[in-house]
Amino acid sequence: MSPLIGITCHHGLEYQYILNHSYVQSVTEAGGVPLLLAMGIKSDVDMLVDRLDGLLLSGGFDINPLFYEEEPINELGEISSGRDANELELVRAFLQADKPVLGICRGHQVFNVAQGGTMYQDIYAQIEGNVLQHAQLARRDHLSHRVQLEEGSKLAAILGSSDILVNSFHHQAVKDAGDEIAVCGTSSDGVIEAIVSESHTFALGVQWHPENTACAGDPPSKNLFAAFVDACR
Ligand code: MN
Repeated sequence: MSPLIGITCHHGLEYQYILNHSYVQSVTEAGGVPLLLAMGIKSDVDMLVDRLDGLLLSGGFDINPLFYEEEPINELGEISSGRDANELELVRAFLQADKPVLGICRGHQVFNVAQGGTMYQDIYAQIEGNVLQHAQLARRDHLSHRVQLEEGSKLAAILGSSDILVNSFHHQAVKDAGDEIAVCGTSSDGVIEAIVSESHTFALGVQWHPENTACAGDPPSKNLFAAFVDACR
């Protein structure tokens, strides 16, 4: 049976639910059945954990810093608090049940905050020294900067390489990794680009957008979706 994979959607201000088609395509091509999850509503989390085989936390806006006990700095972008609360509750429940979780971009950050981690609200304002262009202006499937994966890490094994090129659409980043979370990928400026839970079977976060590059045929990105869907099976 194909695994049923919940994908969180952005809750738009215009009362729409929004999800880039590339998430759906990447899950489908890897053999999963995507189920789009509405955010910003009260949902039966226990039922979702029971019925779904895995959770994909999609990208989107910034996380309300109150969720990691900070005040908003001036450079904080648009937030979606209703979605934050829903996703934090969902990811904690999936981790509790040890069901597979893949966090992408904002989703990677939500995964970290759910485990008690913290964020740079804006890497340009808060990290000293030269920081790469992490909000690329090139098209979404352009591979713009390198990520070094921890040698021998689970993610390096999944991707098939410990040195990859990724796309980049973020101005925030993980600061302190949460409980039982290991950093397993960084860019050359030291920005954390990938994290993994040390105490769950499959719980990974990547700061880049592999759904865009998987659709364009990038092998490491396709490998990541294949591994996630296989873990959900
Ligand atoms: Mn980046």
